[in-house]
Amino acid sequence: MYYSELPIMRALAAAEPCAWINPGLTDAKTALAALDVGAADVEDARARLARFAPFIARRFPETQKDGGRIESPLVALARMQRALGVNVTGTLLAKLDSELPIAGSIKARGGIYEVLKHAEALALAGGLMRENEDYEVLCSEQARAFFSNYAIEVGSTGNLGLSIGITSAALGFRVSVHMSADARPWKKALLREKGVTVVEYAGNFSDAVEAGREHAAADPMSHFIDDENSRDLFMGYAVAAGRLDAQLRERGIQVNASHPLFVYLPCGVGGGPGGIAFGLKLLYGDDVHVFFVEPTASPCMLLGMASGLHQAISVADIGLSGKTHADGLAVGRPSGFVGRVMEHLLSGAFTVADAPLYEDLRLLLNTEDIFAEPSALAAFAGVRGLFSYPEGQAYLEAHHLHAHMQNATHIAWLTGGALVPDEVRREYLHTVL
Ligand SMILES: *Cc1c(COP(=O)(O)O)cnc(C)c1O
Repeated sequence: MYYSELPIMRALAAAEPCAWINPGLTDAKTALAALDVGAADVEDARARLARFAPFIARRFPETQKDGGRIESPLVALARMQRALGVNVTGTLLAKLDSELPIAGSIKARGGIYEVLKHAEALALAGGLMRENEDYEVLCSEQARAFFSNYAIEVGSTGNLGLSIGITSAALGFRVSVHMSADARPWKKALLREKGVTVVEYAGNFSDAVEAGREHAAADPMSHFIDDENSRDLFMGYAVAAGRLDAQLRERGIQVNASHPLFVYLPCGVGGGPGGIAFGLKLLYGDDVHVFFVEPTASPCMLLGMASGLHQAISVADIGLSGKTHADGLAVGRPSGFVGRVMEHLLSGAFTVADAPLYEDLRLLLNTEDIFAEPSALAAFAGVRGLFSYPEGQAYLEAHHLHAHMQNATHIAWLTGGALVPDEVRREYLHTVL
């Protein structure tokens, strides 16, 4: 069937909130075995972050209490669960990547990881440090002088730029962030304050990425961080799964066939949610059910996966503007790499309009005293969606989950917020669309 004849396309093109259950979902073992990425890649990333912990602790004192680990809390959301307006069976928790140190968003996972990996390779090759040496040496003036010979560039809607910009500047790299028109002004201002070169584009995210890619290609000393294709970013995100597993155990929460785990992840280009989903499927297999949530104006991953066209289709091709208040998700063309990895692993996806993001922003603040940025609030549209759309109920039916829902754990992955300045928070609190 030609993609345009698929029933989901009408809702997507009309920018109507909708639910999509992935017809390609198979058992996790088979799906994972067919991939050319695996548990060893995630372990490699985990070990690298552990090697860097002394450096991270020294350079970013806010991580000292965690020994240089960049991690976020997992919290119960009992009041929010009662206030959601749908009957959510099981227990609702939130993963507060909105509070991640250094970058204040999910991008602290992948973005920081890729910069550190690149720095490690340069430092080892350049004789700045030896393997197994304490990575704190990378805090030295000599190291800063060494890294200042190299440049890092990235295209971003904002948060990836913050993550890469702050980390690169801390190491001493020259760093340029190519920002799309959707990027919020405060994110650009914050980066400039940190000494980052911000290049602004009138166009969308893909244009900014393309410009960054070309700019970096012209400079042999420059490394381009490719949000659309990077496996390093992806593996940095995937490390989150093992960390979450430890937090679930601490709370005495089991994940198995009779205790299913549901995870709802706001999705832009796909790397963040895709990496985390991949890590979780490696750990929990068929016992974890992962759903992405995207804005109705920019459902690029759903469009790419449902059509099977991945990065070869953009939301503009079905007449959508791509313009959304969820700036972290304002991506018109998905990562083909991530879409293919997720083909048989993702349970489904939901779309959400902009207005409910602000309503949920206020609801979360009023019920739990937790602030998150508009993009992050998309997670709750996933929680509601599973219980309110017939597609969600059909999914539970098809996977024989109804009998176990009392034991289910639902995690709304709140992807950003800590760095939002007070005056912008106030503006969000009063935004009614
Ligand atoms: C980037 C971002 C996402 C999504 O990550 P992708 O890798 O672009 O899919 C979600 N929420 C926030 C706040 C983000 O900044």
